[in-house]
Amino acid sequence: MTDAGPEPRALVVGAGLAGCECALQAASLGLLVDLAEQKPGRRSPAHHSDGLAELVCSNSFKSMQPSSASGIQKEELFRMGSILLRVARETAVPAGNALAVDRTLFSEQVTHRIRTHPRIRLVEERISDLPDDRPVVIATGPLTDGPLYDRIQELTDSPSLHFFDAAAPLVRADTIDRTLAYAASRYGKGGDDYLNCPMDRDTYDAFVRELLSARLAPVQGADEGTVFEGCMPVETMAARGPETLRHGPMKPVGLPNPSTGRIPHAVVQLRQDDRAASLYGLVGFQTRLAYPEQDRVFRMIPGLGRAVFERYGVMHRNTYLAPDGLLDHDCQLRPDRMRIVRRYPLLFAGQITGVEGYVESIASGLVAGWSLAFLAHGLRLPVLPSTTLTGALQAYLSHPSSGSSLSPMNANLGLLPPLAEAHWKKADRHAALAERAMADLDRFLAQLSSTLDWFSMTNGRGSEAVR
Ligand SMILES: Cc1cc2nc3c(=O)[nH]c(=O)nc-3n(C[C@H](O)[C@H](O)[C@H](O)COP(=O)(O)OP(=O)(O)OC[C@H]3O[C@@H](n4cnc5c(N)ncnc54)[C@H](O)[C@@H]3O)c2cc1C
Repeated sequence: MTDAGPEPRALVVGAGLAGCECALQAASLGLLVDLAEQKPGRRSPAHHSDGLAELVCSNSFKSMQPSSASGIQKEELFRMGSILLRVARETAVPAGNALAVDRTLFSEQVTHRIRTHPRIRLVEERISDLPDDRPVVIATGPLTDGPLYDRIQELTDSPSLHFFDAAAPLVRADTIDRTLAYAASRYGKGGDDYLNCPMDRDTYDAFVRELLSARLAPVQGADEGTVFEGCMPVETMAARGPETLRHGPMKPVGLPNPSTGRIPHAVVQLRQDDRAASLYGLVGFQTRLAYPEQDRVFRMIPGLGRAVFERYGVMHRNTYLAPDGLLDHDCQLRPDRMRIVRRYPLLFAGQITGVEGYVESIASGLVAGWSLAFLAHGLRLPVLPSTTLTGALQAYLSHPSSGSSLSPMNANLGLLPPLAEAHWKKADRHAALAERAMADLDRFLAQLSSTLDWFSMTNGRGSEAVR
């Protein structure tokens, strides 16, 4: 550590996806970490369990296709030694080309790793201040509120922004009518991992009509606010046009109904949510409908006539820091953007930084964990290559925007710099972007590995994170 004496324990606030990854990474690099979590004493409206690293909505970490944006970012994280992604792989449930997990097992295994880690102390406490007697990482997620939120607002000279995001309902598997819903993955890729509820034209038209006239739950500010395009409520999507759902989450292509041999007019897909296959989620059906309306309208879906909802969909206001130039590439709040001078660094990780999505939040937690280790040795984490999705997202958050406020961002190929050579076919272009990302990341990691190994060795123990 530094010449001035041993570093104090770092404080990571929030044991969600970003906070857990951050704490585990920093601890594997030799740091002593306090991880503060407000559960079980207090839960946000979107958190339902007392476990750490809770998935608040879908159980999917999205595509594993090697040249999709999400596939590339997951591969980057595997190479960087993400501990939560490793747990995700260990707790996976069948989901075609996607990586989906048993949410309970996933959370239990992450909680176990945190609780048993010799250098992590879990503190079950709601934090309402920004202490300056040690390095702090704020990873309290998009639903950060109360005194801590006020302290962050007071400290920075930028207002926080918000958008609205909704979660999809879960139904009990034993209440799905399997004579109507059939097992299949789109184009047969990935086995028969989804249950598909087929609709003919009349059923689809009636469903869209009812969806559009259904009563919404009151959510303060939601009518004037922006919704996140990547997680749009199903009824908002339906309002864009009668065919929108058929070209979106209810797309039937590649899903012939075995009982007719034909492609239905529209399909609602259900994805297994737990290892025991006792719960299924409605894919792309995040919603703000009032609960009784979810019962009424979603039961119009063939196969769900008697479905019992284990959890209804809900909409929430999501807060994030206006990221234009507030954070540095290593998740640190820029000293010149703070209203007071702090002795120890203050970092932010996860969705509160302006990234959107489970995998993106984990990636941000990993970067913050590494950054903590560098800072503890008086160094700064080198800038990740912008040709990787993790590096491109960090660059997006850290570069001052041209005046307009930034939107929350999930991993997408548009963030990557163009390729030097032209590719006429989209598939070739995406494959080349993936190849470049991995080559540049491997070079970056090769340069970093001796430093990271040295960090983990300073405490006489090997690193779990970096191989
Ligand atoms: C309703 C909703 C649905 C979403 N659905 C999806 C989805 O389907 N797929 C997807 O990829 N992404 C989804 N997201 C977006 C995002 O990926 C998740 O919010 C993700 O969980 C963010 O990770 P995080 O670690 O930043 O925050 P969180 O996972 O929310 O973790 C924050 C943690 O901090 C704790 N905490 C908060 N305040 C304090 C405090 N003062 N003191 C101590 N602890 C505190 C919380 O209890 C929580 O455990 C959704 C978000 C919302 C709100």
